[in-house]
Amino acid sequence: MRAMKVARAAGTGASVAVECCQICGHAPLDDVLSLGYMPPVNQMVPIGQQPRQQPWFPTNLLHCSKCELVQLGSCVDPVIIFLPEYPYTSGMTKLLRDNFAELYAESSAMLKLKPDDLIVDIGSNDGTLISNFQNGGHRILGIEPTDVGDIANARGIPTVKRYFGAEAAREVKVSHGAARVVTAANCFAHIEDGHAGPGAGGTGDFGGTQNE
Ligand SMILES: [Zn+2]
Repeated sequence: MRAMKVARAAGTGASVAVECCQICGHAPLDDVLSLGYMPPVNQMVPIGQQPRQQPWFPTNLLHCSKCELVQLGSCVDPVIIFLPEYPYTSGMTKLLRDNFAELYAESSAMLKLKPDDLIVDIGSNDGTLISNFQNGGHRILGIEPTDVGDIANARGIPTVKRYFGAEAAREVKVSHGAARVVTAANCFAHIEDGHAGPGAGGTGDFGGTQNE
């Protein structure tokens, strides 16, 4: 793959503009729709407290004429989107709980999973997805950057609290061995370098069968 400029906002505390397609590197991109400026969706003020100042980010959509990907025109620092007090938990949605249970049932039968097999869930939230594999008697590990990971650990679902990337993948492999299954639900859309995500070259030694 040729070198391409990935918009990297991590560490900036702000956002950076997307200058080329974040998958194939093509430029320029076509500006197809602007939805104005919006605040981060998960910074909620508790009832009874005065609203605080919030940053707003542009939400223009760009289209790549080469690979057809439609993508946001700005990349926001993950610490703004996935702040420690991130309020969303996947276990609160019945549809997701049912979907994750089906995912376990299907993958367990298809791959003939054994007790020693390691299953890793990226962006594991409160552990709802991976708890199905744990209940099935398999080794599991969640990777979750926000404090929601504390909920999983308190439930006995082993969870590493950190942002996912190639370095995290390598360390997990060293400490836990290669994963047989890697799951990542609604994950690619939130990783600023898609080529470093699950199933990509950056984590090629992560091991396992990958589902997104
Ligand atoms: Zn493209």
